[in-house]
Amino acid sequence: MSEYERIDKKIEEYREAMVEMQKELCKRPAISPVSGGKGEIEKAQYIKRKLEEVGFDSIDEYDAKDPKAKKGIRPNLVAKLHGKSSEKTIWFMTHMDVVPPGDLKLWHTDPWKATVKEGKIYGRGTTDNQQDLVASLYVVKAIKDLGITPPYDVGLVIVSDEETGSKYGLSYLLKVYPGFKKEDLILVPDFPSPDGSLIEVAEKSIMWLKFVAKGKQTHGSTPEKGINANRVASELICRLDKMLHESYPKRNELFDPPNSTFEPTKREGNVPNVNTIPGEDVFYWDCRVLPAYNLKEIFSKVEAEVKQIEKKFKVSVSIEKVMFDQAAPPTPKDALVVESLRKAVKRVYGVDTKTIGIGGGTVAAYFRRAGFDAAVWGKSDETEHQPNEYCIIDNMVNDAKAFATLCLE
Ligand SMILES: [Zn+2]
Repeated sequence: MSEYERIDKKIEEYREAMVEMQKELCKRPAISPVSGGKGEIEKAQYIKRKLEEVGFDSIDEYDAKDPKAKKGIRPNLVAKLHGKSSEKTIWFMTHMDVVPPGDLKLWHTDPWKATVKEGKIYGRGTTDNQQDLVASLYVVKAIKDLGITPPYDVGLVIVSDEETGSKYGLSYLLKVYPGFKKEDLILVPDFPSPDGSLIEVAEKSIMWLKFVAKGKQTHGSTPEKGINANRVASELICRLDKMLHESYPKRNELFDPPNSTFEPTKREGNVPNVNTIPGEDVFYWDCRVLPAYNLKEIFSKVEAEVKQIEKKFKVSVSIEKVMFDQAAPPTPKDALVVESLRKAVKRVYGVDTKTIGIGGGTVAAYFRRAGFDAAVWGKSDETEHQPNEYCIIDNMVNDAKAFATLCLE
């Protein structure tokens, strides 16, 4: 029997135990205090006991202080199994926090009582992110139980606060944990695609801007006595639209759509009646920009456009950065973690993978900004954050087999 056949067989033996672990995890709702929960402490204590049972060589806890959380902390766990060489580590990073269940009437089962039905486990967090939290723990158990020493160290990073900004999670961990190295492989299994064919390696920058155009209100019949803020805003919107699209035309086929997008979106109500000329007009833009461009530079061009409008209409227009998030440098398509993951997904699922970029930020951006390559992947029906979230048990078990490929190569 080949090593892969042995490990696949071993992982299959854990199927029931993996489902049981899902049930235990669901019993411990780990919701961020900002979303109305108590944090991750109880779930973390349970996971820590499981890590101890598996027999990792080291298990360390890095607690970020958060007075709003139970016991005042947001725990982060790092567990390692030593390989033949400690030159590099194969990391699997998952998160223990979950989003609130939302309207309970929409759930057919109790979100905190995992329910198994037709090969699926229903419950909040079962796919996001417990499916692969469990899979990554059991692949190490299989390695240990078979007495295999993997070629390199294998590490699990299990963080808090992924759903609400990562301040107490990965962002904190990167400051206090010195153990990540450039040559490491970092997989973040938290990106849903039903057939597992997508590997996320890049993201666009996000810039949300709020503009307040201040004119002078007057009666609809005497426009010359006021300054119509609606006209100011409308002309500004048209000029920004033209300038942004003409100045930033690059395309990158990694992304869908392949171009940067610049969209005027929300517009606040100005006056309630037709016969008043509005003295103020408030509007917003949602810009998703290819990583090749610098947001600061784009913003200064926006400011220049605003200055011209201010001069033309003799008004003031303020700009507020509602969101201003420069994208991390992409992980190269041929990075080792991507190539290894391709092989793993092909071996287990028989699927050819495609690297993609997305329009919003993922937690991998923290790794990428810190100079580490990281790939984000997953195989699930996109039920995360929804009522009746479920994990397909086969996916959980097979993901563990795919992770084994990464650990043993
Ligand atoms: Zn997630």
